[in-house]
Amino acid sequence: MQRTSISRRDVLKTGITIGVLGGVSGILLKAAAEAASAKAEAPAANIVSIPSICGMCMAQCAIYINVVNGKPVRIRPNTNAPTSAMGICARGVSGTFTAWLNPDAIKKPMARRALVDWVEGKISWEEAKRQLMQSRGGYDDMVEVDWKTAIEIIAKKLKELADNNERHAMTFLFGAWGPTASMRAAVSIRRFADTYGCGQITFDNPYCTYPRYLGHWVTWGHGHQAHTVCVDYKEAEAILVIRRNVIGAGVVSDTWRFMEAVKKGAKLVVLSPVFDETASYATVWLPVKPGTDLAVLLAFIKYVLDNGYYVEHYLRTFTNAPFLIKENGLPLLASEVAWDKYNMAEPAGFAYVVWDLATNAPAPDAVAKTAALFGQFEVQLRDGTVARVKTALTILKEWVDANLAALAKKHGVEDYFEAAAREADVNIDDLKKAAEIVAKYRAVAPIGWHDPRYSNSPQTWRAVGILLALLGRIQQPGGIFLLTHLIMPYAGIYTKVLKYTRKDVPYKTIRGMTFSEYISANLPAIYAIPLAPPLPGPSDRGAAPVPALVEEWAIEAEKRGYLYPYDTVQALYESVVHGKPFKTKVVFITGSNPIPQIGNSRLVEEIFRNLDLLIVHDVQFNDTTAFADIILPDIPYPERMDLALPGPFSPFPAISVRFPWYYEEYMNRLQQGKRRASLTRSSGLETGGLYLRSC
Ligand code: SF4
Repeated sequence: MQRTSISRRDVLKTGITIGVLGGVSGILLKAAAEAASAKAEAPAANIVSIPSICGMCMAQCAIYINVVNGKPVRIRPNTNAPTSAMGICARGVSGTFTAWLNPDAIKKPMARRALVDWVEGKISWEEAKRQLMQSRGGYDDMVEVDWKTAIEIIAKKLKELADNNERHAMTFLFGAWGPTASMRAAVSIRRFADTYGCGQITFDNPYCTYPRYLGHWVTWGHGHQAHTVCVDYKEAEAILVIRRNVIGAGVVSDTWRFMEAVKKGAKLVVLSPVFDETASYATVWLPVKPGTDLAVLLAFIKYVLDNGYYVEHYLRTFTNAPFLIKENGLPLLASEVAWDKYNMAEPAGFAYVVWDLATNAPAPDAVAKTAALFGQFEVQLRDGTVARVKTALTILKEWVDANLAALAKKHGVEDYFEAAAREADVNIDDLKKAAEIVAKYRAVAPIGWHDPRYSNSPQTWRAVGILLALLGRIQQPGGIFLLTHLIMPYAGIYTKVLKYTRKDVPYKTIRGMTFSEYISANLPAIYAIPLAPPLPGPSDRGAAPVPALVEEWAIEAEKRGYLYPYDTVQALYESVVHGKPFKTKVVFITGSNPIPQIGNSRLVEEIFRNLDLLIVHDVQFNDTTAFADIILPDIPYPERMDLALPGPFSPFPAISVRFPWYYEEYMNRLQQGKRRASLTRSSGLETGGLYLRSC
């Protein structure tokens, strides 16, 4: 194979040359003819396809990077892999340009001038900090430095914290999906944090997903932010699309499965203000006024309840619909009931109470033969009083009726369909037709990730969650499945998911086999990648656990009544700005750009402005790097060699391996004893481990 020198600049130059030649092709016809004859004598091009994983979104489709004569030229789908058997999307194809030939790529470490002066002993920390406070938000005082200088600055600051018994004042923030979360959080970041004695938190609640997450969390008790949401399109008879364009802007593995359902004849109800690609396939398209989907969903829920389309067995078995709720809004507990008045023994453990239609008396949830779904009852309590209770489903119906009645009053109409149609500005006949499809065919809603963040967004997603529960479309055939990454080194979540899915339903339903069966059946085709366990850290030797900022903050937040007390941004704000529950002074961000990601970007900026030191490790300049004191270049995914996890939205249990585009050249050089460092760039974290000793 012909040896070539490889650099990004060469690749860019090649691209530019091709463009220029194309533009003057008329003039160069003769030269081209000569080149063609020379080409006939030239050796055949060396073309290799390097298997890799797309890193442009969390779906992690399998790809090939075509390398021609040592230069990467094209990304194409790996059609042997189930995730990308039907192709990849435009984002994935453009990965060479947007991720790797990106003109905004960070190529060298950078630091603010004041920090260089400080580490060289020219100015005090107080003076350095004064200058940092003035310059954050811009790049004017940034200078390129070598890795050694960048790491010396970080090490000096960390040593100061260690000497002052403030190791916990440093924390890592990392992006929450894909290889960043799984591999780095599990191994390098976690080990560094463990060894140094600091914590790690994640920006896993970007606010574009937060409303949906919150809505589902308080409705289902399962927000599935870090999990994989799959729809069993194969069994779906109707699909309700809300606030997303599955066909035009989805991930490919989700989109082609969605389209298979549509082509098979599944009815499609689309709520979208614009006539997008998904709306163009709709059985009924409701062009709702932005932010009014909640009115439409309430009408659907009322239609389902009034016309008996809810799935009774599902509601009794898997939901709290039959639980008896007291007048103060709290559920009645078995420990409160005077069971002797009903000739029943008191249950041994904790239990909620339902009204058993078989005995016409209260009963612990697990004991009742036929729990009433609707009704108002009186229950004798141990303290001698009588509790007036209603089933949770009765209260839900009352709330839905009351809200729709208020909407009808607002629009001066009687009928709830007419009220919802006016609120959403849609045709009433289309609305009724949509409600009938949703109810009759028990529609499933692909809930995806993002949300446009209207003030009623959490309630909108609550309504979606309730509708899916009423129709028995959660963790059931034809429904949504709240899965997770199958192998997540730091979480063991698959085991937890079994709790929800009982008999491994997702894989039984979608793939026809369980995960274990799949592994057994396909073992020869599955390459096992040995993962070297990280070196034992202090906690493995029995040292006290490092205080985790978010968890400590959550203890207080829960007392203050936060519905979802794991708000990493609020926790960091209170820690950095107000020193609660302890002061955080140094933040290391990798694979995350919190400023645009979080709804209140000014709050994030305030966090950054109040730090002693902000280090950002990323592939390109972005909003957050403008506030960094040290910027470290990360490796874009086409240059990585790692173990990507099964992608979200994909029901296929698969382990994928990513090879860097220069893999063949790299192996050749290794075999020839060339130095590895000539082709790779240090990630910084690896090198940082060496400096830890000085802390
Ligand atoms: S859907 Fe697949 S190809 Fe498209 S950006 Fe996401 S991972 Fe890449």
